[in-house]
Amino acid sequence: MTPQKRVYLDHNATSPLRPAARAAVVGALDALGNASSVHTEGRQARRIVEDARERVAALAGTGPANVIFTSGATEANNWALSAGWEKLFVAAVEHDSVLAPAARATAGVIKLEPDLNGIVRIDDQIDNLAGVVSCGPGQGQSSCVALQMANNETGVIQPVAEMAAFCREHGIAVYTDAVQAAGRIKIEFQDLGVDMLSLSSHKIGGPMGVGAMILRDGVDLPAFIVGGAQERRWRSGTENIAGIAGFGAAAESSLQGLADVEKWRAMRDDLERHVKAITPTAQIIGEGAVRLANTSCIALPGTSAEMLLIKLDLAGIAVSSGAACSSGKVGASHVLSAMGVADEVARGAIRISLGWNSSGADIAAFLDAWRHITRSDRRAVA
Ligand code: PMP
Repeated sequence: MTPQKRVYLDHNATSPLRPAARAAVVGALDALGNASSVHTEGRQARRIVEDARERVAALAGTGPANVIFTSGATEANNWALSAGWEKLFVAAVEHDSVLAPAARATAGVIKLEPDLNGIVRIDDQIDNLAGVVSCGPGQGQSSCVALQMANNETGVIQPVAEMAAFCREHGIAVYTDAVQAAGRIKIEFQDLGVDMLSLSSHKIGGPMGVGAMILRDGVDLPAFIVGGAQERRWRSGTENIAGIAGFGAAAESSLQGLADVEKWRAMRDDLERHVKAITPTAQIIGEGAVRLANTSCIALPGTSAEMLLIKLDLAGIAVSSGAACSSGKVGASHVLSAMGVADEVARGAIRISLGWNSSGADIAAFLDAWRHITRSDRRAVA
C-alpha cells in the first residue's frame, strides 16, 4: 500500500522546519562550548548565538541589542504580563499565554473588546483607558496594554501602531505578541512604537522551544528568570545554542520569504472563493478586516469542527479547529465569542493556515476533500 500523501495546512499551529533551519540546528549541535565560557570553544558557541541574534533582530526590524532569547513566546508573554503592572489592559482576543498570566496578576485586568470583525479599535477603548489616561504622561509606565499584531485563529491584524502612539502619549507601556505576524507581515519594531514584542521560532519554520522578547532601549522590565545572568541578565539559563541557531536561520529565510506573501494571499482567496461556492452557508470569520495572507477561519454553521477535522485528517489534510491551536482542546473559542460569533457558528469553525512550503496543489487537495466531506455531511444530516 502506498502511504497517503499528506497535505499540511496548519502553519499557525507550527510551521514545518525549514531546510536552512535544520542545517543550522544540526551544525550547532556540534558546538561543544558553553556560550558563557571564555575559551575558544565558548567563543564559538557565543558566535552562533550572536549571529542568530542579528538575524532575529532583522526580522523584527530592530538591532541585536534589543533581542533576548527565551524558551518560546509563551515564556515571553508570561514575562511581560507578570511584571507587576498596576493596571493591565488586554485584548479579549489574545492568545491564552497572554490572557492566563494577565488573569493571575494582582492588578485589575481590563479586557479590550474587539468589534465584529475582531479589531480592537482605539476609539472604542478610550473609556476603558480613561482612568490611566487621566494620570497623563511622565508618571512612569505602571500600566500596560497588550495588543497582538495578528490573531492566530482568524489572522485579523490589529492597529498596534495606532494603539502604541496613543499609549506613548499617555505614559502607558505597550506589549505586542507578534508570533503570527512574523514572516507574514513586515515588522518594524522601531517604527511600531511598542515597548515589548514576542516572537516564536517554530511558527516561522524554526525549531520548537525557542523564541524571543524584543525590548525597547531603556524599558523598565524586571527579569523573569534569574540566576545565571545570561542574556545580559535579562534571561538566565544556559543558552539553547542549537535552537537559537535554527531560529536565526528561520528568521533569515522568513524575512526573504515575505516576497511570497502575495502568492499565499492569492491561494487563500482562491480557497475561500471555492469554499463559498461549494458550501454557500460557509462564513469566513474576520472577512471584513485586514487579515494575514496565510490564514482562513471558515465556519460551516450547524456542523462540528471536530468532525470536519477528523474527516479532513482521514482524507490526508491537516488543519485546526478555529477554537484551538494547543493541547487538542476543542471547545468554544474565546476569540470567536469575543467577536460576537454565535456558538452554533463557532462550533463549526476550522482554521486553514498556509506557509513557506504550501502550494496550489495543497489548496486543490483541500477543496477536493471539502467537496467530498460536505456532500456526505449533508447526506448524513438529511
Ligand atoms: N502567541 C500566539 C499568538 C500563538 O499563536 C502562540 C502559539 N500557539 C503562542 C503565543 C505561543 O508560542 P510558543 O509556542 O512559542 O510558546
